[in-house]
Amino acid sequence: MVEQTFVALKPDTVQRGLIGEILKRFENAGLKISGLKMRWVTKDFAKQHYKSHVKKAFYNGLEKFITEGPVIAMVVEGVCAVETVRKIVGSTEPKTAAPGTIRGDFAHHSYNYTDKKKIAIKNLIHASENKKEAQYEIGLWFTDDEIHKYKTTHEKHTQ
Ligand code: AMP
Repeated sequence: MVEQTFVALKPDTVQRGLIGEILKRFENAGLKISGLKMRWVTKDFAKQHYKSHVKKAFYNGLEKFITEGPVIAMVVEGVCAVETVRKIVGSTEPKTAAPGTIRGDFAHHSYNYTDKKKIAIKNLIHASENKKEAQYEIGLWFTDDEIHKYKTTHEKHTQ
């Protein structure tokens, strides 16, 4: 049941100086950071990461946004990590994301607003949707030797 998932803190998180605030939410929940790096995504790489969205109407805005500055990429590990991380992150549209979630607490964009302005929805963070996507994204962003095995001091209480 202990599994890994992929998380990216998007350019709006980095530019707003929210890396620490957001990272802390995962650490507070007892999740383990197994891999971490900063990367400036190219258009080609964005197309590989968002391969299921490339043909969608919002893709151009999303590509422009995800390539406009560096992102923080992470491998996060824990019990049911995929589901747990998405619960902490909140729903995709910040306007409807519940208070207490990352998107609900640190953003408020709506699809209605961003569609009219033809811009990407600024929702701070990406988290793999399911185990298959997590496996693909971890393999795309990280090499095996960039993912670390170690014990956290509180692991016996959370895993
Ligand atoms: P996801 O793979 O669910 O993380 O979706 C990728 C990203 O695409 C989201 O985080 C949003 O930035 C964007 N996105 C997803 N659905 C929409 C939508 N209906 N309109 C605009 N942007 C979207």
